[in-house]
Amino acid sequence: MHVLVVEDEPKIAAFIARGLGEEGYAVDAAYDGEEALTRLAVEQYDIIILDLLLPRRNGFEVCRELRRQGIVTPVLMLTARSQVGDRVQGLDSGADDYLLKPFAFEELLARLRALSRRPAQTRPTVLQVADLTLDPARREVRRGGRLITLAAKEYSVLELLLRHAGQTLSRAQIASHVWSYDFFSESNLVDVYIRSLRRKLDDDFEPKLLHTVRGFGYLLSERESDVAT
Ligand code: CA
Repeated sequence: MHVLVVEDEPKIAAFIARGLGEEGYAVDAAYDGEEALTRLAVEQYDIIILDLLLPRRNGFEVCRELRRQGIVTPVLMLTARSQVGDRVQGLDSGADDYLLKPFAFEELLARLRALSRRPAQTRPTVLQVADLTLDPARREVRRGGRLITLAAKEYSVLELLLRHAGQTLSRAQIASHVWSYDFFSESNLVDVYIRSLRRKLDDDFEPKLLHTVRGFGYLLSERESDVAT
């Protein structure tokens, strides 16, 4: 899950980014409304966490502008307790939910899970290829009905591949989704995660689902014929 956090207070932004990072989310941060819109013009996010009071353009304005542009990404708006009256306006501007500051991190996680469950467009509840399933609401992965335990980053890589099943993704595409916007690496980190996913998901099962497309990237498919040679 790729999340944009728009928050002008560095401490809160860092708190959210660190916590979500540990949960396996890829987090980018923007510190004012203009920067948020610039980011959103070039990057795709699964969820936006949007503070209400921001320099340059406030949360309402950012949200209205997004919706005007047809961007339907779920928005969780952060408001201070003293701004309770603004909640209605927040929802009117196109936010999907709001959270009062200060909040417990667990509650933020619960709201994000709820938002990602919503059928925004055509997002299926459970992702599936052959007998491999991933339930985003429960963060649960199974192969042949057997529960598979994945580390947070393994889960994120798999979720991306499943959302694009049958489609080859480059290492850079995988890296930018799973790590953050600033992530740059010539390392083989993506390959390392693919290897551990293969061990857990493919080694004991048939057919093999995780395929390498030489010189390009990876593909999740049950049909060998999807693999370009
Ligand atoms: Ca603020």
